[in-house]
Amino acid sequence: MKTFRFNCGCSFPVLDDSGSFPLLDFDIEKAPQNCPAVWDLFARGMTKGVFQLESNLGKSWCKRLRPENIDHIAALNALLRPGCLEALDENGISITEHYVKRKKGEEEVKPLHPALAKVLEPTFQVVVYQEQSMAICQILAGFSLNDADEFRKAAGKKLPEQMAKVEKKFIKQAEELGIVSKKEAEQIFEILKSSQRYSFNASHAYAYAYTAYDTAYLKAHFPLAFYYSWLDCASDDAQALEEIAALIDDSRLLDIEVKLPSVLDLSPSFSCDRKIIRFGLANIKGIGEASVCKLIEKVKSTEKELGKGFAEWTWQEFLQRFSRKIPFGLLEKLIRAGALDYFKRSRQEMLHEVEIWVELKDNTEAAWFADKEVFPSLLEALKAVARPRKQGGGVATEKRLSFLHSRISLLENPPAALTDSPLWVLANEEELLGVPLTYHRVDTCDSSAVTCSCRDYLAGKMPPYVLAAELRQVKMMKTKRGDNPGQEMAFLSLADASGSLDDVVCFPDAYAQYKDLLQEGEVVIIHGEKGKNGNLIVKRVFSG
Ligand SMILES: [Zn+2]
Repeated sequence: MKTFRFNCGCSFPVLDDSGSFPLLDFDIEKAPQNCPAVWDLFARGMTKGVFQLESNLGKSWCKRLRPENIDHIAALNALLRPGCLEALDENGISITEHYVKRKKGEEEVKPLHPALAKVLEPTFQVVVYQEQSMAICQILAGFSLNDADEFRKAAGKKLPEQMAKVEKKFIKQAEELGIVSKKEAEQIFEILKSSQRYSFNASHAYAYAYTAYDTAYLKAHFPLAFYYSWLDCASDDAQALEEIAALIDDSRLLDIEVKLPSVLDLSPSFSCDRKIIRFGLANIKGIGEASVCKLIEKVKSTEKELGKGFAEWTWQEFLQRFSRKIPFGLLEKLIRAGALDYFKRSRQEMLHEVEIWVELKDNTEAAWFADKEVFPSLLEALKAVARPRKQGGGVATEKRLSFLHSRISLLENPPAALTDSPLWVLANEEELLGVPLTYHRVDTCDSSAVTCSCRDYLAGKMPPYVLAAELRQVKMMKTKRGDNPGQEMAFLSLADASGSLDDVVCFPDAYAQYKDLLQEGEVVIIHGEKGKNGNLIVKRVFSG
């Protein structure tokens, strides 16, 4: 049997290779547990859609930690909790930071006590899990499993009286056992108490870690199916448009092409072939599934009437034979969202003609067309109908006649150029799809100085770093450390046509200078530098 080999080395048997991408016999249970492409996604913080690690916090700590095995991801799951992130030692370093520094060799891996070295070995001698605390109680104070469980309950349920009892018992028994001194017992118990403030158990953390690895595996090897599934789920999200936009920004980093909805596809929700993902018609804001079902029915019945498939209709056939069968609001949204682009006309021109066409009176002018052939264009159709009935036309009154003549002149001399400007297309797609697909906001600014895209930056491009990007998120916060705590700074999320970049840092000096430009939704030109954790640091900002 043929096999397909990925660049990372993973390979799977091919079931069918007749399409542009072979169909593989893939089973997540059999996926290799140590694929370099998966670790690379984690190291680059590309964890959108990866179980439990997709928030900005998850992305940023993945980049810092660069996990290389399941133990590292499990620990990260436990360490990304408020207790571990916020409990600072006398040097202002959190448990999470200690763990990361030790993993990277920036801090000595020093056992709390030689007797505990083995228990804490998987976590660089940092107390991460509930099970470790319980084992420490057993080793140093001879706790029975029952006693250790008392500690777990007291810590987990935050019962101070219970905890005081356990502490007393721990120190007394530890002193009796004599592995540590009373003072050491007291110190170690303090550490247990603080690390267990929001304790997490290892079994839970490992279950999360395997799921995170599996989702990252799917993302690294089958990105099209991965994003298709997430986009399909996102349609039901309370914040559907925002989530869809975030997924599409992210998918661009992996070269996934998400296309405009198309009436040719007639799919209510996202669809996917082996190359692209396409928006569904019911993903257009304001179009429900019920409207799409009705649309499909009407298309089928009109196909029968015309004796040819939808894809073969001309624009005038669509207009004359079909457009009045569906609500104008639906038609207008389909055009503005690009779902009728396959007619190869500008969206403005289609809107203009549809608006004129729907103004025909149902029982006179429109009915006149019932037994007529399809005209070559709307202009000719209107010229034909805009005659008195006696002369073979379809107009009943003088008033209507002059109205139709006004429409004919509107067609001959449109009030504005009927071309689709990038800004107009952008605004419409953004409103109806949540994200512009034909153009990017960045396309509308002067990008002559730009040297780097979001994707280039993530791929490790060398400086200089001048990026043109839309500010997707600006998260202002106050500094906690340093000489002058309490100053305003910000974390930015950027997006351009190549993808998105999170964790861009704007320190207090730059923030004070450029905060007026740093507004969500704005396009800016950012001059930056690479920081020590790999984050882009904002130096200068210009309006885009
Ligand atoms: Zn692989």
